[in-house]
Amino acid sequence: MVSENQTHHTRSTGTALIVGGGVIGLASAYYLAKDGWKVTVAERDDFSDNCSFGNAGMIVPSHFTPLAAPGIVAQGIKWMFSSRSPFYVKPSPSLSMISWGLKFIRHANEPHVKRSAPHILALNNLSKDLYDELANELADGFGLAHRGILMLFKTEKTAVEEIHLAEQAKALGLDVGILTHEQVQSLEPYVKLDVLGATHYRSDASLYPPALMAHLLHRVKQLGVTLMPQAEVKGFTCNGGKITKVITHAGDLSADIVVLTGGAWLGGLAKKAGLSVPLMPGKGYSFMTTAFDGKLQHPALLLEARVALTPMGGRVRIGGTMELAPIDHRINMNRVEGIANAVPNYYPEYQLPVPDERDIWHGFRPCSPDGLPYLGRSKSISNLIVAGGMGMMGLSLGPAAGKMVSELARGKKTSADIRLFDPERFH
Ligand SMILES: Cc1cc2nc3c(=O)[nH]c(=O)nc-3n(C[C@H](O)[C@H](O)[C@H](O)COP(=O)(O)OP(=O)(O)OC[C@H]3O[C@@H](n4cnc5c(N)ncnc54)[C@H](O)[C@@H]3O)c2cc1C
Repeated sequence: MVSENQTHHTRSTGTALIVGGGVIGLASAYYLAKDGWKVTVAERDDFSDNCSFGNAGMIVPSHFTPLAAPGIVAQGIKWMFSSRSPFYVKPSPSLSMISWGLKFIRHANEPHVKRSAPHILALNNLSKDLYDELANELADGFGLAHRGILMLFKTEKTAVEEIHLAEQAKALGLDVGILTHEQVQSLEPYVKLDVLGATHYRSDASLYPPALMAHLLHRVKQLGVTLMPQAEVKGFTCNGGKITKVITHAGDLSADIVVLTGGAWLGGLAKKAGLSVPLMPGKGYSFMTTAFDGKLQHPALLLEARVALTPMGGRVRIGGTMELAPIDHRINMNRVEGIANAVPNYYPEYQLPVPDERDIWHGFRPCSPDGLPYLGRSKSISNLIVAGGMGMMGLSLGPAAGKMVSELARGKKTSADIRLFDPERFH
């Protein structure tokens, strides 16, 4: 057990205002309400879509390395020149982009990965257990499946990297299998695979994100949480080191505790409260297909292509690309084509048509420059908690983040060590 805020004494509950209704906001609402807080969630839109709905639904203890890792900068530069590539940083003269990029480069090294990995893993493991608890509580479920995730590779180069990573994962206590072509094919008996092999992270899981979000919304309402749609937060009034007023489109609000969970917009929101929380949106796309006809058994990452496939009910969700650039809602069909075209390279029986633009979902991952979450209490504003910046694993970390928020709100010891995730670490 670790003390995040030893100076804070355990306090009684009161009112809590959460800004943002994604998975982090709703999970925070859930754990706060269960702990006796009177909770309101102010959401700019209507709780029906955000990054938490269209993602690949993977719960990923396997993702213990932050995005800022060795090799990613060189690889990213190569990919920048291809319109179909899975990773893209839009060259931009904006100061915030340059400053984010420099911080990213500074963290893309081995010591950073080594230091961060056990903490990211611990939070993901906790979250996975909490998902089991949630699934038991929510009678209809949300498609939680424990089949692990297959990391499929086609080339020797990727095999060497992945096997090395799998050894590190095992050393950290993860249950990982290193599979030959024949072994992975026998795990997927109904679809033909064209791969060299795979690593199988057996402790990963998956779920159907829209069902999870619907259940969380339903459950928090049952717990008495007030949901405020169309209530964009425009600013804060601070007095005596505290937020005393939250200015929204739907009127002014106040609460004992304010929690910022604004997803890709968290940086702008925090700035309004005087905090520097650097963040870049990482746009990704997904679409559903019926092509596999229920035959695909395991979620998979097509490693060289950076594409994710997750069985969801009888269908499969296919997602990918990471375009690091300011928010832009346009759909880049070249990249969607890149995603669709990657599938038959691994599953040769499935030549997928490029979906219609209206069937393509897009969302913005909230990416911090060091690849670590922002999760903690502000040191400069005593009633402010920040929870976000979870990049590629926000769905996975949702329940753990929510639980940490409720512990922080109480001034309790947090049940995971979140000191590395200090939201003011870039001040
Ligand atoms: C293609 C793709 C695949 C992914 N796959 C996975 C996966 O398999 N596993 C995984 O763990 N993660 C995955 N992710 C990442 C994951 O979806 C995100 O990390 C997560 O959903 C972020 O949740 P959030 O609550 O922080 O943000 P969001 O879900 O974006 O919610 C933030 C909310 O805040 C609201 N808001 C913003 N500003 C304001 C304001 N001023 N006032 C009021 N409200 C405001 C927004 O409207 C929004 O509703 C994927 C992402 C993409 C794009």
